[in-house]
Amino acid sequence: MEPASHSFEELLDFTLKRMEAMKKEGVRWVSVNPDWLSPLEPANYHSPVQEREKSDSTSPSAPPTPRSREVPPLSGLQKPALKTGERKIDSSGPETANPTSSRNQLAAPKAKTKPLDLQKLSDQELNAGMDRLRAEALQCQKCPHLAESRRNVVFGVGNINADLMFVGEAPGMDEDLQGEPFVGKAGQLLTKIIEAMGLSREEVYIGNALKCRPDTPGQAYGNRKPTPDEIANCLPFIEKQVELIRPKALVALGASAVEALYGEKVYITRIRGQRRDYRGIPLMPTFHPSYLLRNSSHAVKRLVWEDMLEVMEILGMPISEKQQGYFKK
Ligand code: SF4
Repeated sequence: MEPASHSFEELLDFTLKRMEAMKKEGVRWVSVNPDWLSPLEPANYHSPVQEREKSDSTSPSAPPTPRSREVPPLSGLQKPALKTGERKIDSSGPETANPTSSRNQLAAPKAKTKPLDLQKLSDQELNAGMDRLRAEALQCQKCPHLAESRRNVVFGVGNINADLMFVGEAPGMDEDLQGEPFVGKAGQLLTKIIEAMGLSREEVYIGNALKCRPDTPGQAYGNRKPTPDEIANCLPFIEKQVELIRPKALVALGASAVEALYGEKVYITRIRGQRRDYRGIPLMPTFHPSYLLRNSSHAVKRLVWEDMLEVMEILGMPISEKQQGYFKK
């Protein structure tokens, strides 16, 4: 057996054994670094055998490998069927979902696409509309399991007249406790990013696609990705917030935020930095700050910063030489 194949199988065996052990210990959710799973995306994954075939096919004499053979079933990664009483470990997190799994397909209703009237509302209309929406969210029970487990509905925070609005995924533990989005470590990093842009947290608006913390029964800590049903239930709130605020630019933090707003499956590593249009508003997809906490290389920080520089351009903000040079080395 060739060394590459040997180490792959050993690693796979070790991973499966470890997950089985965790499952027996009652763990239901594990978070996985998106970068580790990126090679397993159907478009990227090649078994060791296929990797060899691919490299063979690059030799002048080898015939080209048909595209269909580059997307194998992940049969080697499938876990044995669960026995009665065993609980499923869900490894889905940002970008970790298998796009062919029905659990990870976004459920109807689809996101709104109709262009918005971007003329700002009067203060009176805006305040009344936001108050009504907040009151509705605070008593929302559309996801009974989340309504039961939440400590607070995390509606949103900031300037409802803002030109810039950030949309994240869902509240975590700190946010659930304080009732405010992005107050944990990732939130502190987001605040630094906002300040590096020359703005304050109070000048922008920050909200999440999901207003209640995704529950993790049996676990005091840890986060999980919202399910498509939860996102579908909650989507009208963030849509309405955008409709009321009518910002000049949106920043979607992480894959889940983009998926919620557009109703489509995305991989943030592929689409970040590519300016989009959300109902007439320029939208910049970028990495979630929690990804930056796990991948704090200058290169990744620079990517996010370049996204923010583009947002500043969209907003017509002045950009200093110092700002231009952040994270360039
Ligand atoms: S997550 Fe959204 S839709 Fe679900 S209960 Fe909370 S506020 Fe309601």
